Amino acid sequence: MFDLSGKRIFVAGHSGLVGSALCRALSDVDCTVLTAPRSVLDLRDQASVQAWMIAHKPDAVIMAAAHVGGIGANIAAPATFVHDNAVMALNVIHSAHLANINHLLFLGSSCMYPVDVPLPLREESLLSGRFEVTNAPYALAKSLGVEMCRAYSAQYGRRYISAVPCNLYGPQDRYDLERGHVVPALLAKAHLAKMSGARELPVWGSGTPRREFLYSDDCARALLLLLRSYEGDAPVNVGTGEEISIANLARMICEVTGFKGDLVFDRSHPDGVSSKVMDVSRIHAMGWRAEISLRDGLERAYQDYLSREAAHAA
Ligand code: GDP
Repeated sequence: MFDLSGKRIFVAGHSGLVGSALCRALSDVDCTVLTAPRSVLDLRDQASVQAWMIAHKPDAVIMAAAHVGGIGANIAAPATFVHDNAVMALNVIHSAHLANINHLLFLGSSCMYPVDVPLPLREESLLSGRFEVTNAPYALAKSLGVEMCRAYSAQYGRRYISAVPCNLYGPQDRYDLERGHVVPALLAKAHLAKMSGARELPVWGSGTPRREFLYSDDCARALLLLLRSYEGDAPVNVGTGEEISIANLARMICEVTGFKGDLVFDRSHPDGVSSKVMDVSRIHAMGWRAEISLRDGLERAYQDYLSREAAHAA
């Protein structure tokens, strides 16, 4: 058991979707949260990361920083996805070791799972086959981080562990129409369609792929549980174990935003993998369950979108 109280915890990527949820969760814990804005610390710069770790020497590092984006962003910038994520994983994990930091939690992603492995995805299937083509560069870089955690734990006796979250959404998401993930992109598109009086909402792909969604604050609780008490060396899936088709997700988003028009499926955009629902028995066995339903989470995310739109307009 690693007691977080009184500890100094570095949340790398504190302003992002998961990082901001981690900061909210850690505000209830008697610990000091260390953060470093990108303007101060570029995680792609090896020398800066090493110097920062040695100067601040946190008790634990949570690596929630990543270059992320939806299927469109992954296809548009594969080099950036593989380079930035691989270099950040290398720098943060190796520098934590050099600074003699014993506890680290790395965030992988369910897109690391190979295609053609049994569903629901079990942790044992990681690195057992080829990656899905639309996000292979990102999956490769994330897999590097996961394997580094195992390697540094094995060779140096560190407690470096990794989590494998499903598709996450929540406050601080990127509501970018082209580059965002499906939830923030469709929330924004449905809202704009409602405001402009449009009759149709274009949805990328066939609408048949299924995805598992988890609200970021639920994810943060699971991550802190793992950091405190996970003893194994294998990565741990973090999700609901339940999936929904993109068509049904889009219908729910129409209800939440109040868009009354029709969905139109734009098959010129790729579907990506048909399903990546995960087996979440390991994290369930540790006593964690998702608490925020998809419907509630979408309502909250829409409120976040509206408040950011209002702040932007002011
Ligand atoms: P993925 O889980 O890595 O495929 O990430 P995404 O969140 O980008 O996409 C999930 C699914 O939603 C894919 O099948 C997309 O084709 C579909 N989708 C439908 N409309 C949109 C949209 O407006 N943006 C994105 N990113 N995906 C969409």
